[in-house]
Amino acid sequence: MKTINVTQSSLPPLEEYVKEISELWENKWLTNMGKKHEQLEIALKDYLNVDNITLFTNGHLALETLISALDLTGEIITTPFTFASTTHAIIRNNLTPVFCDIRKEDYTIDTEKIEDLITDKTTAIVPVHVYGNICKYEEISKIAEKYGLKVIYDAAHAFGEKINDINIANIGDASMFSFHATKVFHTIEGGAVTYRDEVLKSKLNRLKNFGIDDYDCISTVGGNGKMNEFQASMGLCNLRYIENEIEKRKKIFFTYTNRLNKVDGIKIQKLNPLVKSNYSYFPVLFETYRKDRNIVFEELKKQGILSRKYFYPLTNDCDAYGYHGEETPIAKYVAEHILCLPIYADLSPDIANQICDIILN
Ligand SMILES: *Cc1c(COP(=O)(O)O)cnc(C)c1O
Repeated sequence: MKTINVTQSSLPPLEEYVKEISELWENKWLTNMGKKHEQLEIALKDYLNVDNITLFTNGHLALETLISALDLTGEIITTPFTFASTTHAIIRNNLTPVFCDIRKEDYTIDTEKIEDLITDKTTAIVPVHVYGNICKYEEISKIAEKYGLKVIYDAAHAFGEKINDINIANIGDASMFSFHATKVFHTIEGGAVTYRDEVLKSKLNRLKNFGIDDYDCISTVGGNGKMNEFQASMGLCNLRYIENEIEKRKKIFFTYTNRLNKVDGIKIQKLNPLVKSNYSYFPVLFETYRKDRNIVFEELKKQGILSRKYFYPLTNDCDAYGYHGEETPIAKYVAEHILCLPIYADLSPDIANQICDIILN
């Protein structure tokens, strides 16, 4: 068997991409908010059903810039069960992450533990729709309102998802999406921020372009987070296939579900019936199974299947920050027992079945 990676990028037909970028040879405008950038913003606004969106060169800079644009101070309540980017974005803004434990049911932030962590320095909550599992957003909104906090979702895993028929890009004060090559929808590298307050638009645009207001005025110390025209063109092509992409992932998702559903000692992802899912990940919790997570990981690897110990280590256990955050026992337990199996649109159900054979034999 050839090596199977945990994920593989989907690409549009080559001719379609070539046609999309061929215009760039005519107008020679390759970046700095060009025509493709504008078209993609419009197309995404429509798809996500949002009033405000700003594109970025990647998801991480989108989040980092968004946090900066909101002028937050002090402490930010967040989850350690995420990709390092979420916590890095907080720390790189000179803010202190305060780690809240997660729910065993779906690995999202435990809303019953948030209030205990709020101090007079808290200014925001940064939850993550981890694996595309939508956070308990109504509870989070209630807490945020009571204490006057901003809510910024890391929605990197949740592109295209809806809850109660609302596109999740519309919940909270703002959401960040990643359009990295490994995500359900991609622009090679890329990302976006969607937000409620229209006033943020000019601020985000300034911050992603060196703080430049116009030719004569640089009012802010901004970075460079602009999405270029080749990225935007890839996005325009991929967006035409998004429903098909999700449909194909769904097949793999249910192939795994059917095989692993009732196995003793294994817990698989339960879908929330109120959510239209994007089937972005297939995490499996090896709890009391006869083989532990690390053994399954090694056995799959021996046979050319690369699964991932997502998310391990936790970000409050990460060497980079020089300190370990609050204790989060459930997140710690999950990080030590979870394994994400390969899932992508072009993975064949046969391979998914073979992966299950390896796990079960
Ligand atoms: C991918 C990802 C990011 C970062 O996005 P990039 O586009 O790779 O910069 C942030 N948070 C989470 C949870 C992610 O999975």
